[in-house]
Amino acid sequence: MLVSATEMLKKAKAGHYAVGQFNINNLEWTKAILQTAQECNSPVILGVSEGAGKYMTGYKTVVGMVNGMLEEMNITVPVALHLDHGSYEGCLKCVEAGFSSIMFDGSHYPIEENVAKTKELVKICAEHGMSLEAEVGSIGGEEDGVVGAGECADPNECKMIADLGIDFLAAGIGNIHGKYPANWQGLSFETLDAIQQLTGEMPLVLHGGTGIPADMIKKAIDLGVSKINVNTECQLAFAAATREYVEAGKDQQGKGYDPRKLLAPGAEAIKATVKEKMELFGSVNKA
Ligand SMILES: [Zn+2]
Repeated sequence: MLVSATEMLKKAKAGHYAVGQFNINNLEWTKAILQTAQECNSPVILGVSEGAGKYMTGYKTVVGMVNGMLEEMNITVPVALHLDHGSYEGCLKCVEAGFSSIMFDGSHYPIEENVAKTKELVKICAEHGMSLEAEVGSIGGEEDGVVGAGECADPNECKMIADLGIDFLAAGIGNIHGKYPANWQGLSFETLDAIQQLTGEMPLVLHGGTGIPADMIKKAIDLGVSKINVNTECQLAFAAATREYVEAGKDQQGKGYDPRKLLAPGAEAIKATVKEKMELFGSVNKA
C-alpha cells in the first residue's frame, strides 16, 4: 500500500540520512526502482512529473500500475507516489487519482500567491492523508519547460512557507536540474544552513541530485536535507546501457529484438544507479 512521505522523511531527518526520490517514466523504470528499494530494504519515493504523467496516459494509469506492482512484487518497504513540480491543477488531479504525496511548485508565483495556493493544498492533503512538498526560490535548469537559473532561496520566505503546515520544503541552494555545467559554483551551504536554522525540524529537499559530488551530498544531509531527487542520472544510465546493447548488435542476434531483452540492460543500469544512491544517501536498511 502506498504511504505518504511524511513519516519516512521525519525518520530520515532524525536519523541523519536522506530518502531518494527517483522519477519514473514507464513500467521498466518503476519495476527497477521498486525491486532495488526492496532489495536494499530502503524507503523510496517514486516521482512523477506532469510530463511523465501525460506520457503514461494519465495519473490514474500511474496509480494503477504502481499499486499493482506493490501487490504483485510483494513490496513491503514504504513507498510514496509523489507528483514532482505539480501545478495547482495537476495537484488536484493527483489527489483524485490516488497519489500519496504531491509537490506544489509555486516558485514562479509572487510569494503571496504561492502562500495562498499552498494553504489551500495543505488543507486538501490533510483531508486525504497525503504529504505536501512546497518550493521556494526556483531551482536551476529546466523542469518541464520552466527554466530557472540556480538561484538561492530567501530563508525568510522559506520560513513563511514552512509554517503553513507543509510536510517538506524544497529550496533553491544553487542546485540545478539536469547535467551541471563545468563552471557550476557548487551548493550554497550558507543558504542551506540559514534555511535550516529557521525551519527547524522541517525535512528539506534537494532537487537536481544528478552530478552533485558525494561529499556535497553528505554535507547537505548533515545540514538537514532528508529527500534527494534523482532523475537525469537514471536516464543517462538507461540510455548508455541500451546504446551499448544495440551497438554490439545484440538486438540482431537470436530474439534480441524482444523488448524484454532489449530493455533489460537499461533496467539493470537503473537498478545499479538507484542502489548506489541509496547507499550514498544512507537509506539502506532504514525501511
Ligand atoms: Zn525538481
